[in-house]
Amino acid sequence: MYELRCKSCGKTYDGNSQRWRCECGGLLDLDFIPRFDPGKLEGAPVSMWRYRSALPIDQDENILSFQEGFTPLLPVTYPEGSLLIKQDNLFPSGSYKDRGASVMMSKVKEIGVSRVVEDSSGNAGCAVAAYSALGGIACDIYVPASASAGKLAQIQAYGATLHAIPGTRQDTTDAVVSAAETTYYASHVWNPFFFQGTKTFAYEVAEQLGWKAPDTVIVPAGHGTLLLGTAIGFTELAKAGIVDRIPKIVAVQPEHCAPLAAAFDQGKAQPVEVVPVETLAEGISIARPNRGDTILRYVRESGGKFITVTEEEIRQTLLETALMGHFIEPTTAAIIAGARKYLSDDAKTGEVVVTTFTGHGLKATDKLLKLLPH
Ligand SMILES: *Cc1c(COP(=O)(O)O)cnc(C)c1O
Ligand SMILES: [Zn+2]
Repeated sequence: MYELRCKSCGKTYDGNSQRWRCECGGLLDLDFIPRFDPGKLEGAPVSMWRYRSALPIDQDENILSFQEGFTPLLPVTYPEGSLLIKQDNLFPSGSYKDRGASVMMSKVKEIGVSRVVEDSSGNAGCAVAAYSALGGIACDIYVPASASAGKLAQIQAYGATLHAIPGTRQDTTDAVVSAAETTYYASHVWNPFFFQGTKTFAYEVAEQLGWKAPDTVIVPAGHGTLLLGTAIGFTELAKAGIVDRIPKIVAVQPEHCAPLAAAFDQGKAQPVEVVPVETLAEGISIARPNRGDTILRYVRESGGKFITVTEEEIRQTLLETALMGHFIEPTTAAIIAGARKYLSDDAKTGEVVVTTFTGHGLKATDKLLKLLPH
């Protein structure tokens, strides 16, 4: 079985308890050691649920799935070099957040919760709303009023109650906190089951490379939900002897909001205080990532680094990537801009570098229209 363990005081709770944080207010981690055998994948579904035995849902009947995932790992060549890019913009709700939401909302169903609240810059809200619709679970989603119109429409279309909060992303989080006093908080930041879903990114990459770890994985760092899943996934695979090492984890932040990159450069264990400036990368504009210390530790232990990108670099990469036929949202363009910098500044010849298209361009057409040359 498995337990929830408080990151602050160490208190443990049953893995199926209806709590999203410790009595002391601390963040919960999940102690879970999967028993996964890659030799037994014959006949497994072509989705992230092919790793069923590595996912902590007890009863199959509780699984909420659209048969999502196992996205193509596509070679894409930029002037700086070649990347292997996971096409996570092809998920049912249009972003990789479906990985986390599928597992987290399955657990919500398993523990008998019928109503949830969530806050997000947009895409996590879309994903939680989609799986709530699938599972017949009521949900209230809090997002900044400035989020892309496509995301706001999508959340409402799935039948969720939308709360569009004026002000900053932090104002949105503050608004959800009181709602979460009385309702289960299906948070992609607090809830460790979300990372059990995002870890399938690592499993898929490893399988697609013939059960090998790439040299380097380049991921976004807002709250780091994909980064944390990637680190957890590769750690599990390495511990089980399925891959021989954990790849170097390189994290990308926009220059306009880079509390972790600054902490990394200053040798600090916690994110530094920043005053965020508006950025095209709305999905990773997170001034206070509350698992920031863990993110910094994973990046350092893997021998990785942080890369920051400017607004102009994000814009350029967005437009150039679309001209190659890939329609991604501006937040994703920030990651790819960071990956291009990595290729030109750091990569060695023959290095296998994996990254991801985290979100679909159709999510942010309002913002895109403003960027297109007239
Ligand atoms: C959520 C999201 C990210 C990454 O955000 P984290 O807060 O680091 O998990 C990146 N791109 C898109 C499109 C997103 O929706
Ligand atoms: Zn505690």
